[in-house]
Amino acid sequence: MKLKGNLLAQIFIAFGLAIILGILFGPSIDVIKPLGDLFLRLIKFIIAPLILASLVVGVASTGDPKRLGRMGAKTITYYLITSGIAVTIGLAIAFLISPGKGINITVPEAAVQINETGGFIATLLNIIPDNPFAALSSGNILQIIFFAIFIGLAIALVGEKAKPVYQFFEGFAEIMYKITGIVMWVAPIGILGLVAPVVGHYGMSVLMPLVKLILAVAIACFLHVVFVYSIAVKKFAKVGPIQFFKGMAPASVVAFSTCSSAGTLPVTIKNTQENLGVPKKISSFVLPLGATINMDGTAIYQGVAVVFIAQFYGLELSILQLLTIVLMAVLASIGAAGVPGAGVIMLAMVLTSVNMPLEGIALVAGIDRILDMFRTTVNILGDASASVVVAATEDGLWSDDINEQKN
Ligand code: ASP
Repeated sequence: MKLKGNLLAQIFIAFGLAIILGILFGPSIDVIKPLGDLFLRLIKFIIAPLILASLVVGVASTGDPKRLGRMGAKTITYYLITSGIAVTIGLAIAFLISPGKGINITVPEAAVQINETGGFIATLLNIIPDNPFAALSSGNILQIIFFAIFIGLAIALVGEKAKPVYQFFEGFAEIMYKITGIVMWVAPIGILGLVAPVVGHYGMSVLMPLVKLILAVAIACFLHVVFVYSIAVKKFAKVGPIQFFKGMAPASVVAFSTCSSAGTLPVTIKNTQENLGVPKKISSFVLPLGATINMDGTAIYQGVAVVFIAQFYGLELSILQLLTIVLMAVLASIGAAGVPGAGVIMLAMVLTSVNMPLEGIALVAGIDRILDMFRTTVNILGDASASVVVAATEDGLWSDDINEQKN
């Protein structure tokens, strides 16, 4: 416990130090960037094996397809509702603060590339891997989830003969959890290396014209987190908001620094299990899924950015357009990958759906890294709150020991 407290303190100190170093040295602080990359690579290499092993164990020990279906339905409903609320809060705050009115900047040349995703059906079909080993080696999280669920189910169906495989994955998952714990020791150094260059590059002069936009995103994120997640964990899981946010503090700082919810996944899993008591079989299912399809922060960002761009160009948004934005922003947040800058690419889809100029993206792209920090933090907190809520309404929090005895 004492050790954990220390790590959190170290992480915050590193964060403060990063800001000071960034301000002092400006862009030349880039020399410490490799420290950030070192940490990023260390947590990223855990992701694929961790999801595979922990989810196989989670599904196999649940064993009951009905129960899995219920858990899945609960998780996805929670994700959809909170994402819908998120865009709405984003839109409301943007109308209140009007970040796009009266700003005077020239729109840089748009260099927007819209990725063809191949449509809805193709996206769904793509969840089934052609080759599960390719999915593992390319780190396609949804495909890994699909593969792991099937192995887990089949282990439960096969029974006795599959026991060694179950035990292998069980041991392997424990190893990956242990590696996550070890890697976290370099988190303070990594955060220093990730945050200082960002501060160094975005001097006040770059931020000033868009400071209202940053504020709008930050305030909307703050409100969403404080109201939606606090109420959800309190109401459904009887977990106090302070306990929740304190428990998730290390993952929040890692998400803020890395701007990648997929990259933060091992830490998110670790924090929910160790600090909030989410059983492994729940966290290993709810969190990887969330890191891929649930992005409330990204949804908030879409709402704020669209209003910002509309205000900049002096466009009025009709009710129908607003409803379209809510729907499209939820879809965009589902489609966005948990990597830095994914949200800004999805913004193209939302803008196109309401016939707004894509050049607007160039307007916000310059400071995207800063906005990304806020939205990624919200993204992982949303996933964590879902795991707490689903756990509390299934076996209950802190029930892992009982589960393990049962197996
Ligand atoms: N960076 C975000 C994430 O990893 C996605 C986004 O760009 O909105 O969660």
